[in-house]
Amino acid sequence: MSEKNIVLSAKHLKKSYGKGEATVQALSDVSLDIYEGELLAILGSSGSGKSTLLNMLGGMDQPDEGSITVGGRELAKMKDKELTRYRREDVGFVFQSFNLIAELTAKENVAITASVQKDKDIVKNMLELVGLGAKLNNYPMQMSGGEQQRVSIARALAKDPRLLLCDEPTGALDFETGKQILIALEKLVRVHGKTVVIVTHTQEIGRMADRTIRMRSGKIIEQTVNEAPVSAELVEW
Ligand code: ADP
Ligand code: MG
Repeated sequence: MSEKNIVLSAKHLKKSYGKGEATVQALSDVSLDIYEGELLAILGSSGSGKSTLLNMLGGMDQPDEGSITVGGRELAKMKDKELTRYRREDVGFVFQSFNLIAELTAKENVAITASVQKDKDIVKNMLELVGLGAKLNNYPMQMSGGEQQRVSIARALAKDPRLLLCDEPTGALDFETGKQILIALEKLVRVHGKTVVIVTHTQEIGRMADRTIRMRSGKIIEQTVNEAPVSAELVEW
């Protein structure tokens, strides 16, 4: 991280679910910045508020209080159309469950990204980038879990997002396959200069990140900067 341009800035986010006695404070006063070209790991056990936070950063959910500013614009102040554009074009999402369409090939799954229709080469390039150049015409059923996850990464990348948000990207994968995904994500940052956020309950994954943010009970309890991140190849859990 030589330059420190802020891609996204979140301030004092609060979010609760439910009412009265049953209220769950999913986020209480969470503030963070995300820097261009960094690999940020958001760590914390299940229920600590990681997904709630990520969904807000991606404009998929709104905080009760606080603000999220991207490129000088505050999400809450955007008109519906702008917010939809932000979600569709500026943010790439990768989920634990891949979310591929079973009836579409790898190529077609990537091509459904709205902005891709402009340039057909992007589809092939992105699948090659994640090492799937030989599986362009495979259906999800004809691919391993790790390959499916790489298709979902290619799909997210095809819109050339400012920010790639990954929620437990290795959560449904065995160790070796999960590691391949981490290596792919690492390459996106180190080789292609992308900005990647990985949310995970697997603490060890934090070792490969430039920065880690640790959450507990809806709060950030620790932030660390890794001066010398470990290669994803060497991360074990
Ligand atoms: P994590 O991703 O770290 O496991 P979440 O952000 O999913 O945590 O959840 C944080 C807390 O908010 C948990 O207690 C969870 O049960 C609660 N929560 C999350 N989403 C909802 C929802 N839609 N309705 C009610 N409670 C929710
Ligand atoms: Mg979660």
